[in-house]
Amino acid sequence: MENLNAAIPAPQLHRYNTIPEYLPDIPVEELDSVLPGPSLIAIEGNASPPIFISVLLHGNETTGFLAIQHLIRELNLTTKPAPRNIILFIGNIAAAKKGVRRLEHEPDYNRIWNGNSLPEHQLAKAVLEELSKQQLYAAVDIHNNTGKNPHYACINRTDPSFIHLARRFSKTIVYFTEPHEVISMALSHHCPSVTLECGRPGETGGFNHAYNYLVQCLTLPEEILFSPPSNKHNDIFHTIAKITLPENTHLGFGNCMNAVDICFRDDLDELNFTSVPAGTKLGVSAKKQHSLRVIDNRNREVTDEYIRLDKNDIVTGKPLIPSMFTKNETIIHQDCFGYIMEPYPIGK
Ligand SMILES: [Zn+2]
Repeated sequence: MENLNAAIPAPQLHRYNTIPEYLPDIPVEELDSVLPGPSLIAIEGNASPPIFISVLLHGNETTGFLAIQHLIRELNLTTKPAPRNIILFIGNIAAAKKGVRRLEHEPDYNRIWNGNSLPEHQLAKAVLEELSKQQLYAAVDIHNNTGKNPHYACINRTDPSFIHLARRFSKTIVYFTEPHEVISMALSHHCPSVTLECGRPGETGGFNHAYNYLVQCLTLPEEILFSPPSNKHNDIFHTIAKITLPENTHLGFGNCMNAVDICFRDDLDELNFTSVPAGTKLGVSAKKQHSLRVIDNRNREVTDEYIRLDKNDIVTGKPLIPSMFTKNETIIHQDCFGYIMEPYPIGK
C-alpha cells in the first residue's frame, strides 16, 4: 500500500485571480474539466479583509459548491465585484467526480491541516501559507453529513466572535477540538472560523441555508456579524468522544436478513442531537462481544463507560447525546460511526 501511495504524485495547488470560465455552471461531477485539481480562487470584492470559504473537502458533500455557484450567478461575480473579497478553496475535485467522500488511496481532505507525513499535507500547507500572508475576516468551511442531523455550525474555539458567527447559521452549535486536523481548526488561529453542516447533500433546504448565510457573511458589517443576534438562545454541545468500528465488521440496519456482526436499529440516526438515556438499545450483536470502540478527546479508550452488552443487545452505558450517527457503511468505515457530545454551558 505504501509503495502505491508513494507512486501517486502529490496534488498540486492551482491558483486563480479571477473566476474561471464555466465554473458557475459546470455540474460538480464535471468540475475537473474546469479545474485540474485543488484550487484557490481569489474573487475581487469591495471590502477587505477577505472571507475564506472552502467547499468540497469531501467530494460527495456538494451543498457548499452549489451555493457558491449560485452566489456567483446571483451577484454576477464574473462581471461585478463581490460585496467583500473572497478567497475560495475548492478541495477534492477528483473525489467529487466520483461522488465519494475521498478516493481510496487518499487521506480525508479535512484531516490534512495539521501534520507532515503525506503529500496532501504539503497541499494544505500551501493553502495555509497563502492565507497567512493576509488578514482574514472569517473562515467558513461547508459540509454535508449522511445521517439525519439538524443544520448546525461547528466551532473549535469558544470566543464570543466564533459563537456569534456560528449562531448566525444555527442555534445548534457544536464545539469540538478533535479531530484537530480539520481546516476550521487551522484557521481558528487566524480569524473567527466555522464549519457549516448543511444536512444531507442534494437537499434544497441546506442549499438555501448555506447560500443565505454566505450572503450575510459577505454583506453584514463586522459589528453585526460577530455580535449576538437578537435571539440569543443557543444550544451548544461539546464533542467528547468518537465511536468507531473496525473496517471488517459487517453491519445491518433494521430487520437484518443477512448474516451480520451487528444489526443496528433502523432509526439509529433519529437519535442524533437528542438526549439518549442509559440503557437505550442501539442494536444487536451476533457475538458475545461488540466491536464498537469509543475514544475520548485525549485518545483514551472509554468504550465500557458508554457502551455495554446486555445479553446480545448493545445498549448505552450512560446518558449521551449523539451526533452524526449514520447508516451509511462507507462513511462509517471512512470516517466514523458517530460522535458523543455533552451540553456546553457557555454563551447563554
Ligand atoms: Zn464533510
